Amino acid sequence: MNIHRLKRKLRRGGRRLIRRFNKRLRRRRKHRHNSKRRELISDELRERLSYSKLFYVVYVVAVSLLCIIMSQFSPNSSFKKWYYELTHKETVNKGVAREENVKEVDANVGRFLTKYRYRKFGPTNPEEIDPNAPMIAFTFDDGPSANSTKRILAALEANYCHATFFVVGRQTEQFPEELQAILAQGSEIGNHTADHKKLTDLSEDDMRQQLEGVDKSVEKATGERTTVIRPPYGAYDERVLGLLDKPVVLWDVDSEDWDSRNAQMVLDKVLSNVKDGDIVLMHDIYDSTAEAVELLLPKLKEQGFQVVSVSEMAKYKGKELELGKAYGKIEP
Ligand code: ZN
Repeated sequence: MNIHRLKRKLRRGGRRLIRRFNKRLRRRRKHRHNSKRRELISDELRERLSYSKLFYVVYVVAVSLLCIIMSQFSPNSSFKKWYYELTHKETVNKGVAREENVKEVDANVGRFLTKYRYRKFGPTNPEEIDPNAPMIAFTFDDGPSANSTKRILAALEANYCHATFFVVGRQTEQFPEELQAILAQGSEIGNHTADHKKLTDLSEDDMRQQLEGVDKSVEKATGERTTVIRPPYGAYDERVLGLLDKPVVLWDVDSEDWDSRNAQMVLDKVLSNVKDGDIVLMHDIYDSTAEAVELLLPKLKEQGFQVVSVSEMAKYKGKELELGKAYGKIEP
């Protein structure tokens, strides 16, 4: 054997061995690198998943809270009923007591919501009156007149309120545009007789004439007839009630605006006496009354009152104004 050939063979074998070893080393490094990468990715994924779980929980809680809050805006919320039953277990089976309590709770919630709404979103839309919140009816007699009626209508409009105007004959002929403005604003026109006469002193024929005269001029101006009657001086008896063809509306809060002719006094008189279901008597023939109304409406709102017309109040309180009856207020 040639010694040189042997040396060459050994060298070649050694190189082959080294190459093989290097190959294996490379493969092993690659594998280690890949598994490290895999670990990194799964860590990130796990972190992301745990974050999305947290977000999901927060989301569900937030949506549930939102639903509960929104349900409070519905007057017949089942959540409110459920909560009431939960907190008043002992009265649940005492029918009458519960009914009364529910009314009280609803009135309180309504009052709170009305206040909240006014504070957060400004005045409410009259289409969205809350039947559970306290409301009062404003009534104005002896108009319409040149200045006061328009000012009062503007104040009602600005505060999303309505009222009932009991008009008299001679004024209706003089101010047809004011009559149209009353209906256009969403308020109501009532009959207060043609010549402001005591109905109890009149014969049946005279009474009919007094009321028909007003209805005719209102119809001429607006195309509609009056819906309610207020007898002048609040004077009526069984005979009068039996003959009238519309419900009779009186009042239980007298602003005495005709006497004081002072806006601040009218304001104090109304604010200190008014409660849910009241009908307030005023006159849209004095500037002092118009001023009082401009101040009163925002104040009443702050206190949670909704100011509406008499027929609206009856409607929202679920009462039908009946013929042959006189209403000084509308009981809830
Ligand atoms: Zn009058």
